[in-house]
Amino acid sequence: MFRTEKKTKTKKRLLMITLIAASFLIIAVVGWIGFNDWDVKKSYQRVETALGISKVTVPSERETEEQPNADGNSELPEPEPTESHEPEEEEEEVPPEEAIQYIEGQELPEEPTYVEGILIANKKNPLPSTFAPGEDKEAREAFEEMAAAALLEDYRLVAFSTYRSFEYQTELYKRYVDRDGVEEADRYSARPGYSEHQTGLAFDIGEVNKEQDWATSRFGETDAGKWLAENAHLYGFIMRYPEGKEFITGYMYESWHFRYVGLEVAKDIYENDTTLEEYLGL
Ligand SMILES: [Zn+2]
Repeated sequence: MFRTEKKTKTKKRLLMITLIAASFLIIAVVGWIGFNDWDVKKSYQRVETALGISKVTVPSERETEEQPNADGNSELPEPEPTESHEPEEEEEEVPPEEAIQYIEGQELPEEPTYVEGILIANKKNPLPSTFAPGEDKEAREAFEEMAAAALLEDYRLVAFSTYRSFEYQTELYKRYVDRDGVEEADRYSARPGYSEHQTGLAFDIGEVNKEQDWATSRFGETDAGKWLAENAHLYGFIMRYPEGKEFITGYMYESWHFRYVGLEVAKDIYENDTTLEEYLGL
């Protein structure tokens, strides 16, 4: 009798302990899932991670939001930035409504245009076909002085194209149009009467024995090209068609084309990071 009673008591106690333990387990599991935003899979993975079964770490909500790509590309390295300026020139379209454009049907004038004493040749201000001053002597002297200074830095500069006659430009432009079409040719070559080279004040500059870089965007990337961009104003020259000013000048970036405007104007344009068009309010 006593033994049976004791056995029953022990059984009841065991049942109670089991029930309490089970309750704690259920509360713990539900609580854990709740703690993990009711995400069962996430909760399970966390347990796995904690027990060292799985090496997968579950990202927190914040980290998940910060992932730039949801397609699994976020771990790929960033693409290399493009170094060459050539693709930019191709991609960068000049907005046609803002760009300085030729006035179709415009006749060449009888006299050249001077603004504040500065001779202008751009897509709106052409030169007479008879205007043929030859290479400007003052500009040539300034160039020689600049070339001598560059030589001290071991850069051997050469002006490979300066004065071009109206007749020569006519030939040149026709050749470019035949090759690339009018629209493309207009982006890098002037129509006859519109070339700054006809003023005798424009100098296309490169390095001696580096013909492969002449009149290419690569020149601007060379040490000599960089030196020239930083120092030309000290000799009265400006980079006439700078990068990012295509819609103002009407021409793509030309790291090699420099225009003689005299010391004072060149310094002002260089220091204000501007263009001849902006300086003169054209
Ligand atoms: Zn030029």
